[in-house]
Amino acid sequence: MSRAFRIHAPGGPEALIWEEVSVPEPADGQVRLRHTAVGLNYIDVYHRTGLYPLPSLPAVPGMEGAGVVEAVGRGVSEFGPGDRVAYAGVLGAYAETRVIAADRLVALPPAITDPQAAAMMLKGMTAQYLLRRTYPVQAGDRVMVHAAAGGVGLILCQWARHLGATVIGTVGTDAKADLARAHGCHHPIVYTRERFVDRVRAITGGDGVAVVYDSVGKDTFLDSLDCLRPLGMMVTFGNASGPVPPVEPALLSAKGSLFLTRPTLMTYTAKPADLQASARELFDVVAGGHVRIRIGARYPLSETPQAHRDLESRATTGSTVLLP
Ligand code: NDP
Repeated sequence: MSRAFRIHAPGGPEALIWEEVSVPEPADGQVRLRHTAVGLNYIDVYHRTGLYPLPSLPAVPGMEGAGVVEAVGRGVSEFGPGDRVAYAGVLGAYAETRVIAADRLVALPPAITDPQAAAMMLKGMTAQYLLRRTYPVQAGDRVMVHAAAGGVGLILCQWARHLGATVIGTVGTDAKADLARAHGCHHPIVYTRERFVDRVRAITGGDGVAVVYDSVGKDTFLDSLDCLRPLGMMVTFGNASGPVPPVEPALLSAKGSLFLTRPTLMTYTAKPADLQASARELFDVVAGGHVRIRIGARYPLSETPQAHRDLESRATTGSTVLLP
C-alpha cells in the first residue's frame, strides 16, 4: 500500500482525496518507483477541474516526478533498483509510490537533485520543444513569453536569451517583473496594468515579434496575434485564463499570413528517442548554468490542495515542488 491523491469526480481543490491505494508489482517493461519529489503543473488543475477529462475515474493526477527505482519488471535492462530517475507527462505522480513504463524514464545525472528534477522535467522539456522545434529561435529574433515569471515562463526566458533572442515577457505584478528580468527577460510588461500590444509595438519599433509563446489562452490570444510580425508564429500552448475560442483561418491572413499551432509535450516526446534527446538538451543548459531552475515553493505532498489554490490564484512563481 501507498498513499496518493485520487480524483473521484472533477471539482475544486477539495476534489483531491488523500487515501491509501495499492501499488501493483511492475509488469513487463515497467518499473516501481518511490517518489522523492513530485512536480506541480497547471495541467494538474485542468485534470482536476475536468477541462482535460481524465481517461477514467478514480485517477491519480500529477504528470511529473523524480525518485528511486525499487523494482523492475521483466525485460527492463536500462534501470535497476536504486537508480535515480525522473519523468514528465505520465499521469499518476501524486503518489508516494507508483509503477511506470521504463521507456518513459530518464536517468538523472549526479549534478541534478531530485527536487530540481521534479521542478524542471515537464516545464523544461516544454521549453526545449517550444524554442528548438515548434519555432526554432535564432539569434537576433524577438520573442514574446506570456506568464514570464511562472514555471515554464522563467525557463523560456532564460533559454531564449541564451539562444540570442530579445525576450519580451508579460507578468501580473511588479515583483514578478523583477523576477522575470533576473531570469533573462529583457522587457517585462505588467499586463494587468499596461496594454501589452502597445508596449510590444513600441519595443520593436512597430515590427512585431517572430513568435509568441502564449500559455495564458483566452485573455491574451487575440492581442497576441497583433504582436506578431508578418509570417510570425503564434504558439498557443496553455489555458491558464481559460480555453481559446474557435478561430477563423481568415483572421490569420488578415493579420499578416500568420502561422498558428497548438502543441503539447506529449506529441513531442512520444518517441523514446525524442524524450531522451529533449532531456539531454535540458540537462546541458542547466549544467552549463544557462538556465537556473527556480523552486518558488515546496509543500508536503499531503498539502497539494493548498498548492493548487496558490497556483490558480497566481500566487506562485517559478516551479513548485511537492515532497512525499
Ligand atoms: P505557471 O507557473 O505559469 O502559472 C500560471 C500563470 O499564468 C500564473 O502564475 C499567472 O501569471 C498566469 N495567469 C494569467 N492569467 C491567469 C488566470 N486567469 N488564472 C491563473 N493564472 C493566470 O504554470 P506552469 O508553468 O505550470 O504552466 C504554464 C502554462 O503552460 C499553463 O497554461 C500550462 O498548461 C502550459 N503548459 C503547456 C504545455 C504543453 O506542452 N502544451 C506543457 C507545460 C505547460 P501572471 O500573474 O504573471 O499573469
